[in-house]
Amino acid sequence: MSALTKKGKGESMKEYDVVVIGSGAGMVIVEGALSQGLRVALVDKGPLGGTCLNVGCIPSKMLIYPADRIAEIQEAKKLGIDVTIVQRRDRLVRNEEPEISELLKREMAKRMKIYTNTEVSEVKKNGDGYTIIGRDKIIGEEKEFTAEHIMIATGRKSNADLLKVENTGVETDERGYVKVNDYLETSKENIWALGDAIGKYMFRHVANHEALVAWHNSIHTEEVKMEYRAIPHAVFSHPQIASVGLTEEQAKKDYDIVVGKANYSAVAKGEAMMETESFAKAIVEKSSMKILGFHIIGPYAPILIQEVITTHGK
Ligand SMILES: Cc1cc2nc3c(=O)[nH]c(=O)nc-3n(C[C@H](O)[C@H](O)[C@H](O)COP(=O)(O)OP(=O)(O)OC[C@H]3O[C@@H](n4cnc5c(N)ncnc54)[C@H](O)[C@@H]3O)c2cc1C
Repeated sequence: MSALTKKGKGESMKEYDVVVIGSGAGMVIVEGALSQGLRVALVDKGPLGGTCLNVGCIPSKMLIYPADRIAEIQEAKKLGIDVTIVQRRDRLVRNEEPEISELLKREMAKRMKIYTNTEVSEVKKNGDGYTIIGRDKIIGEEKEFTAEHIMIATGRKSNADLLKVENTGVETDERGYVKVNDYLETSKENIWALGDAIGKYMFRHVANHEALVAWHNSIHTEEVKMEYRAIPHAVFSHPQIASVGLTEEQAKKDYDIVVGKANYSAVAKGEAMMETESFAKAIVEKSSMKILGFHIIGPYAPILIQEVITTHGK
């Protein structure tokens, strides 16, 4: 968000009180500024609504819901769809607890082929399909996979270079994300940044909150810090995963902890669902009994985690 005052080469440049670049969580700021009667410009290189609305959260959930139903009634095989996952690292979901990643792999391996520790080096068009060349990182052996379609899901990277933010004096970090302080101020006065552009927690619920904080700080002298204490995330895999706070490994570094685990089957509903493997894991500070982290794998995990968020850190 910035106030533009400079004129370009011989062009007349309109002046606004607030310029918002990006119409995802940026819309929160547009709304705030308009409600204050300010002159606002919204600039977006793509369709209105940003990633979440157009290609992210919303459309992916439209696919996940029917995919879940198909998996539940085990029709994937009947439909004759063969899926292969090729993963460079040793774990499928490396930011989750190792035992959660392991259970996910075991469960998914019942429905598809999974190759971990396998680095893809080449993809070739092969008639109507593709040939993918990979190498097993442990034994060094080359592997070949063929498929009709490929989905590349290797992560996200900054596109701050497109905007050439350095021309404004706004600094980026070594990964190319816009640097901000606790108040979401960039290195340049009167420019704030938020959401995926700052590369912290790349979720829509975080971006929305950051937008509120940035907007508040831009119009008040009493600034507030962006607080990242209890940020949940979910993996809409089958089984589902949800998590909030620290992992056991992270917590151990700074706290004396106790770890508790409970299987879904420990309660009657879980038993009735025949959920023998699904579980929840709590990481608690020994002295205060504060919940530092909570991790769930199993049905409705993203809904169940909300119960923990309300008490997280208390
Ligand atoms: C497939 C997928 C599924 C996802 N599912 C979830 C989910 O379930 N839950 C969740 O919380 N998050 C999810 N996310 C992440 C979520 O979409 C993002 O964290 C969120 O949209 C970030 O909001 P933002 O406003 O920072 O960025 P965006 O929503 O990406 O908005 C940025 C806007 O800026 C515009 N822009 C970029 N560069 C320029 C430029 N140089 N000039 C002008 N305009 C520019 C873009 O066109 C875009 O409209 C998902 C993401 C993906 C890709």
